[in-house]
Amino acid sequence: MTAAFFTTLFAVALALFTALRLWLARRHMTYVAAHRASVPPAFVERIGLTAHQKAADYTIARTRLSVVETLVEVLTLVVLTFGGGVAALVAWTGSLSLGVLWQDLALLVAFAVIMGVIGLPFSYVQTFGIEAKFGFNRTTRALWVIDLAKGVLIGAALGLPLAVLVLWLMRAAGPLWWLWAWAAWMAFQFLVLALYPTVIAPLFNKFSPLPPGPARATIEALLARCGFENRGLYVMDGSRRSSHGNAFFTGFGRAKRIVFFDTLLARLAPDEVEAVLAHELGHFRLKHVMKRMAWTAVLSLVFLALLAWLARSSWFYEGLGVPTAPDRPGVALLLFFLVLPVFTFVFGPLSSLYSRKHEFEADAFAARNASATAMVRALVKLYEDNAATLTPDPLHSAFYDSHPPAAARIARLQTS
Ligand SMILES: [Zn+2]
Repeated sequence: MTAAFFTTLFAVALALFTALRLWLARRHMTYVAAHRASVPPAFVERIGLTAHQKAADYTIARTRLSVVETLVEVLTLVVLTFGGGVAALVAWTGSLSLGVLWQDLALLVAFAVIMGVIGLPFSYVQTFGIEAKFGFNRTTRALWVIDLAKGVLIGAALGLPLAVLVLWLMRAAGPLWWLWAWAAWMAFQFLVLALYPTVIAPLFNKFSPLPPGPARATIEALLARCGFENRGLYVMDGSRRSSHGNAFFTGFGRAKRIVFFDTLLARLAPDEVEAVLAHELGHFRLKHVMKRMAWTAVLSLVFLALLAWLARSSWFYEGLGVPTAPDRPGVALLLFFLVLPVFTFVFGPLSSLYSRKHEFEADAFAARNASATAMVRALVKLYEDNAATLTPDPLHSAFYDSHPPAAARIARLQTS
């Protein structure tokens, strides 16, 4: 492999990545617009025309923003690689009178700050432009800024020690440093998972025990029926920020909690809440969470081994605009995470397919352990409340969607 060849390879991959993303977005907007005039036959009884058209407009608005985001992202990549951006950052941090480890940390922090600043306007427009326009946003500008500050602080508290550890291992742990880095990365994942329900999530939301009532009684009966031990049923004040509804599990092992958004409980009847929870229980019982974590572990190991090989190859640096890499592992780390998504994007549909398979299985579990008709009612309400389109472009959906289209899920539930 030569540097010139790798440059060409990256340029071609980047062009394909950009073209594919823009083409999928274009198809999606055209398809949704073409089906805007009438509610699909399967939903005529359940969803009104106004709600259907709102979902279409909301989907198009979000997709349009994602197009701008794609263009900015690609431009950033070009400036950082071919435009010499990374090379300039490497030279600047290299001139700091610090040890190599701290120069590399400064490099990664500078990069994180640049990417964060570029992403900020999109987050702002998403919340105060699109979400507000469609009546979903409930967050204030003050709360948005506080959330941002908390996010940065938590990111720094967790991310900086991890970065220091990995950078140190890359220099000190010998040729098999990537195995050690992998172990550190896995330990870090478990730490975040363990801290999330009790330490991180409460920084952003209030969690109160689910009050007694018909919903709680139904849920406890379902948990007993499925032999599921839990460490508490909680309601989260999701309505502070958005009117979108959801339910989820947090934690692992014996510390599992079940959390409902207050917006979900306000909207669904007890038997519908039961069906949604049964679906989530299905994900646990059928070991979807464990399987996904196992895949993540395997892929992380493969990527770290790949990084170890690339870090030793001079064409990798030169091909991405960094002339003759100094002995600084942070440079390899930065370049790797910068270009990896461009090369792995085409594998996205495999991950989406795997996830959709799990969603069908969890729906079937809900149909067996709760009620299929209540699940269908809950899904229709959630689709309506979240203004999720009922008519996604099939190819766009196959590429990106972690959940099968509403029509497909409902059709399966009705035959189960
Ligand atoms: Zn699910």
